[in-house]
Amino acid sequence: MHESDYDYDLFVVGAGSGGVRAARMSAGFGARVAIAEDRYLGGTCVNAGCVPKKLFVYASHFAEDFEVARSFGWTVGNTGFHWRRLIENKDTEIKRLNGVYRKILDSAGVTTITGRATLLDEHTIRVNGKTCTAERILIATGGWPSVPDLPGTEHAITSNEAFHLDTLPGRILIVGGGYIAVEFACIFHGLGVATTLLYRGPLFLRGFDHDLRAMLAEEMRKKGIELLFNTNVTGITKTDSGLKIQLTTDQHLVTNTVMFATGRKPNTAGFGLGKAGVRLNEQGAIVVNSHYQSSVPSIYAIGDVTDRVNLTPVALAEGMALARTLFGKQPTEVDYANIPTCVFSQPSLGTVGLTEEEARQRYAETAIYKSSFRPMKLSLAGGEEKTFMKIVVDKASDRVVGVHMMGPDAGEIIQGIAIAMKAGATKATFDATIGIHPTAAEEFVTMREPVAD
Ligand code: NDP
Repeated sequence: MHESDYDYDLFVVGAGSGGVRAARMSAGFGARVAIAEDRYLGGTCVNAGCVPKKLFVYASHFAEDFEVARSFGWTVGNTGFHWRRLIENKDTEIKRLNGVYRKILDSAGVTTITGRATLLDEHTIRVNGKTCTAERILIATGGWPSVPDLPGTEHAITSNEAFHLDTLPGRILIVGGGYIAVEFACIFHGLGVATTLLYRGPLFLRGFDHDLRAMLAEEMRKKGIELLFNTNVTGITKTDSGLKIQLTTDQHLVTNTVMFATGRKPNTAGFGLGKAGVRLNEQGAIVVNSHYQSSVPSIYAIGDVTDRVNLTPVALAEGMALARTLFGKQPTEVDYANIPTCVFSQPSLGTVGLTEEEARQRYAETAIYKSSFRPMKLSLAGGEEKTFMKIVVDKASDRVVGVHMMGPDAGEIIQGIAIAMKAGATKATFDATIGIHPTAAEEFVTMREPVAD
């Protein structure tokens, strides 16, 4: 049991993935914990991110699934899509999850406060007109969509609004080339919206393996999504025929809806971090050491507000590591190597470890294995969509240092591969593994010949 003269041992600001995990685990170790949240329990992931996004991804797959069903002998009757019904059912599910989060906190003995917390100093918090003290304060306030400063952006939406649109637009322009832009382009296209994705660089998903980026661009174009690269927006004006988007190429586009998916900024403004002396970097993120401690020793930060690896499972791992370290007598550090990730595009991308480009820079000699084929499920429909898999090996050690996939269930498959990589699997380990037939994943244990350098 941890005792101090403060009202709480830990006061958490922000009840998203990281904050809730840190709060309930710390309470589980006997700490007296309060958590303050002024928007929604569960944070971005539950309310305006991973969860509703994945529900939308499921929704948007059905148009293709109906076609595939026909090829398997099914008579598919009249189909129609009701956007409002999707939104209502999604909102009901999210309300349920908000309740689950509240129960988790309550049953862990955490005091949950609905209100905006402000730091008065390094141990004092003001929330709902009351002041309390804490030995340690954890900032887990996440991030918020960031829109470039251009004329007319008040007419645009971000992912926040995309989850609550009154009607499904006929046409949409999505600006950006990261996870959110690519996922939403596929979602809207799947739901029947004429979709254009516009990205300022030569090819979207900067930082991912080049083959995956190029092959996904090809698949998205084949499906009918318009991809405009090397282009950016200079301004938006509202006209009678829709929103007029001025481009850097001196051309313009007209569309119903413009969505900016141009990154997210850490939520660090307006709650007293400056007053408490917490140092921020140029992007406004809280600077922390390897123990999530800010420049003020009693103030910690985890998750997107530190703008490092902005993924829910990473925030969860950081929350657990912090709770174990501070209150569990088990000093723990998160291992940031080989974090698997998935872009829920259509087809999806799963990836873990180094890209081919990174591996070629790091190792003297690499062996690259690639395979591309049509998924069996599409064989009767004569579908053209490809599945692509790639293994990147450091030749000297035979260690598998990167695995990349584009295709159905890439996230599910790469999650398993990530365990093998964590365990240090070599290419020989992959080769010695018996496949499960017939699956797509068996291809990962049957690739024998590296591609020529
Ligand atoms: P990302 O950082 O992934 O991508 C931002 C995109 O916007 C990049 O393509 C970037 O271009 C572009 N961009 C940035 N500023 C401008 C600008 N001023 N004008 C034009 N383009 C610009 O951010 P997202 O918003 O897509 O997602 C935020 C984070 O959320 C992700 O990084 C990820 O960590 C997380 N996330 C994870 C998901 C998952 O795990 N499936 C799903 C969704 C989000 P450039 O590349 O040239 O810099």
